[in-house]
Amino acid sequence: MLNWTSNIKALQDLLGNARHCLVVSHMNPDGDAVGASLAWWSYLKAAYPDMEVRVVFPNKYPEFLGWIEGADQAIAYADKKEATQSYIKTCDLIFCLDFNSIDRLDALGEALPDRSVPRVLIDHHLQPTPDFDLIFSDALMSSTSEFVYRIVVALGGKPLLTKGAAEALYVGLMTDTGSFCFSVRTPDTFRMAADLVELGIDKDEIAGKVYDSYSEKRMRLLGYCLHEKMRVFPKQKAAYISLSRRELDDFCFQPGDTEGFVNFPLSIKKVTLSALFTESQDKTHIRVSLRSKGKTLSVNELARKYFNGGGHFNAAGGKYFNSLKNCEAYFENILKSEF
Ligand code: 5GP
Ligand code: MN
Repeated sequence: MLNWTSNIKALQDLLGNARHCLVVSHMNPDGDAVGASLAWWSYLKAAYPDMEVRVVFPNKYPEFLGWIEGADQAIAYADKKEATQSYIKTCDLIFCLDFNSIDRLDALGEALPDRSVPRVLIDHHLQPTPDFDLIFSDALMSSTSEFVYRIVVALGGKPLLTKGAAEALYVGLMTDTGSFCFSVRTPDTFRMAADLVELGIDKDEIAGKVYDSYSEKRMRLLGYCLHEKMRVFPKQKAAYISLSRRELDDFCFQPGDTEGFVNFPLSIKKVTLSALFTESQDKTHIRVSLRSKGKTLSVNELARKYFNGGGHFNAAGGKYFNSLKNCEAYFENILKSEF
């Protein structure tokens, strides 16, 4: 939906009638999910002081995002189900940020009130499902954080953005574009970054907090992945890394520790497709992350076709419901048949 500006009036009407707002984002929230949600929370609080606004993620965000303004009030549903349910049931407006289908919320999706409570989507993934009542969906946006910023500007709310909100937006922008290396499709994205600098952010400090925050174990896990676990398929220009629960436990895995690992094989000149397979904590499935470089290989299509998932052209994910060994064999067969 490219002409989202026509939805602004409907959004204003919904906000004018709301008393208890819920902002939710996807499972395993990343920099964009957390940044966009907290910036939207900050704006709503400033613009509608009488409205209650809560941010709930399906599970805990990684520690390296915990410094963002408002992160301390955000709830991880998996840790506080009972306490959160009563608020969820009483909310009268729901904002769904940075995902395109309710199944990305895991158990939080089942806890949402019925469809009589309006659901507003703000997202930049392809192909949103009909799970939402008012849809702001634009795959040309670099990030949901950029979309939130544009909506705030369209609402006339830019003067209400605090430095903390600007920092949150910059985290989303920086992480979803690999520090402006990809997904920047219009000059406006750089103009937004300039606006955030004008709002007082220190971009070097933010990059340091997000990227230079590895624990020693996490750094060694990365080394292990690249040295011991990366398999390269030169003919198919592909590579993958797979990690069992035992291997993750050996390196004292914390949520977010493998964030970004899937990108590393793409630094090999001839590799254009990269995958990361990690065994889930309850060992019921394998989490699949896919990345491609260039304009010809859509990992969104690959994730949809083979891994019950989706995402963007160059970054997508999904799940595989069998063992890690079988997942590796399955992927190798895909490589042989598709490339
Ligand atoms: P990541 O590999 O970083 O977990 O996810 C990359 C992109 O794919 C993100 O934009 C994310 O929203 C999307 N994605 C990841 N996992 C899934 C999934 O299970 N289903 C769908 N539809 N999209 C996913
Ligand atoms: Mn995003």
